[in-house]
Amino acid sequence: MDFSFTKKEEKFRSTLRSWLEENLPEGWLEGKREVLKEDEEYSAFLRGWQKKLYEGCWAAIAWPEKYGGRNATLMEEIIYQQEMVRVKAPVLINYVGIHMVGPTLIQMGTEEQKQKYIEKMLTGEEVWCQGYSEPNAGSDLSALQTSAVKDGDRWIINGQKVWTSFGHYADKCFLLARTSNHEKKNKGITVFLVDMHQPGVETRPIIQMDGEHDFNEVYFNDAIAYDADIVGEVDEGWKVMIALLMHERTGIGGQLFTLEQQFDELVKLTGEVQENGQPLIKDPFVRQKMVDLYTRTRGSLLNYYRNLTSTLKRGYPGAEGSMDKLLVSELTKEMFAYSVSLQGHQGVLWKEDALVDSFWQDNFLYSFGMTIGGGTSEIQKNTIAERILGLPKDMGR
Ligand SMILES: Cc1cc2nc3c(=O)[nH]c(=O)nc-3n(C[C@H](O)[C@H](O)[C@H](O)COP(=O)(O)OP(=O)(O)OC[C@H]3O[C@@H](n4cnc5c(N)ncnc54)[C@H](O)[C@@H]3O)c2cc1C
Repeated sequence: MDFSFTKKEEKFRSTLRSWLEENLPEGWLEGKREVLKEDEEYSAFLRGWQKKLYEGCWAAIAWPEKYGGRNATLMEEIIYQQEMVRVKAPVLINYVGIHMVGPTLIQMGTEEQKQKYIEKMLTGEEVWCQGYSEPNAGSDLSALQTSAVKDGDRWIINGQKVWTSFGHYADKCFLLARTSNHEKKNKGITVFLVDMHQPGVETRPIIQMDGEHDFNEVYFNDAIAYDADIVGEVDEGWKVMIALLMHERTGIGGQLFTLEQQFDELVKLTGEVQENGQPLIKDPFVRQKMVDLYTRTRGSLLNYYRNLTSTLKRGYPGAEGSMDKLLVSELTKEMFAYSVSLQGHQGVLWKEDALVDSFWQDNFLYSFGMTIGGGTSEIQKNTIAERILGLPKDMGR
C-alpha cells in the first residue's frame, strides 16, 4: 500500500483543517477544552457540536452521499481520523448511531427505517444506544432474557440491559430481545429500534471506578415497539446483531490514532519526570520499553490500514476488526499502566493530587474497560482463531 497522499487528498485535509479552525468551540485549539460534565449541559454541548459537523457534512463522511455522507475514500477516512485526533475534537455524542446503528441500517434496514432515522442520527437530534448486554448475557449474547411478546402490530418488551453506554443521553435504542425459544439459542432473537422516552423505559446510572458516568442499567417494563421497528426478520436478529458488531469493531480500530498521539505525550512525560536528577528518558530500560511500545503501536496502525483496505474491497467490515480491537485496547492498557509506574510511588496520586497530570491516572483506570467493551479480549482472540485463522470452534460453545 502506498502511504503518500495525493494532491486531492491533501486538499481534503486542508479543507477539513480550515473547517475545524472556523467551527471548533472558541479557544478549543488554544487548549481551553474544559467542558462542564453535568449531564444536561454536556449533552447540549455535544449535540451542538454534532449539529455543526452535520451542517458541514462532516458527521459521517464514510456514508454514501445519498444518506448525508461524503462517500469518503479509505484515505480520506484516515485523514479525517488523524485530523480529529490532532485537534482533540469533542466526543461524538452519537458515536453509536454514526459508527454502529447507521451503517447497519444502511446495510440491512427497510427504506422506511432509513427515511425515519438516518437524518436525525446525523444531526444529533436522536442519539442512539446499544441494548445488547444483560446481567447474565455478555460474551454469550445468545443467553439474553429480555423478551418481546407480540400483541397485534405491537411488541411488549420486558427485561434488563446493562453497561449501556450513552444510555442517559439516548433517544433510541438498538435492542436485542428474545421473541421465541429454540433449541439453538441464537435463533429466536429479534432486533428492535426502541424509543427510550416512553413510560416503560427506565435508565439508572452506573458510576465507574474513575468516578465518571459513561454507562447505565436500562429497565424495560412493558415498553412498546412496533412491527415497523424490527430490523431484518423476526427471530433472525443474530445476523443483524453480528453486522453491527463488525461495524463497532472496525470503528474501535480508529482509536489507534489516539494511541499514537498518547504515545507522543508519553515521550514528553519521560522527559519531564526525573529520577536521581536525570530525566527518565535517559534510562536505557525506559528507552527500550518506549521503543517496544512505539514499534507495536506503529505495527498495529499499519495492520489497521490493511484491514480497512479489505473492508473497502468487500464493501462491509469483516472479522479483521477483532484484530484492531484487541491490539488497540491491550496496548492502551499496557501504555497507561507503564505511564503510571514511571511516576513511582507518586503514580497512585490522582485528580488534583497527581504528580504531573491526572490524565495518566484517569486513562489508566479507563483503559480496563477498553479490553471489555465491544467484546472482551478473549472473545476477540476466539474470533481471530475461528474466523481468520480457520481453527476449530471454541469447545465451550
Ligand atoms: C466501557 C464499556 C462500555 C460498554 N458499552 C456497552 C453498550 O453500550 N451496550 C452493551 O450492550 N454492552 C456494553 N458493554 C458491555 C460489554 O459488551 C460486556 O461487558 C462484554 O461483552 C463482556 O460481557 P460480561 O461483562 O457479561 O462478561 P462475561 O461474558 O461474563 O465474561 C467474564 C469473563 O469470562 C471471559 N469469557 C467469557 N466467555 C469466554 C469464552 N468463550 N472464552 C474465553 N473467555 C471467555 C471473558 O473474556 C471475561 O474475562 C460495555 C462494557 C464496557 C466495559
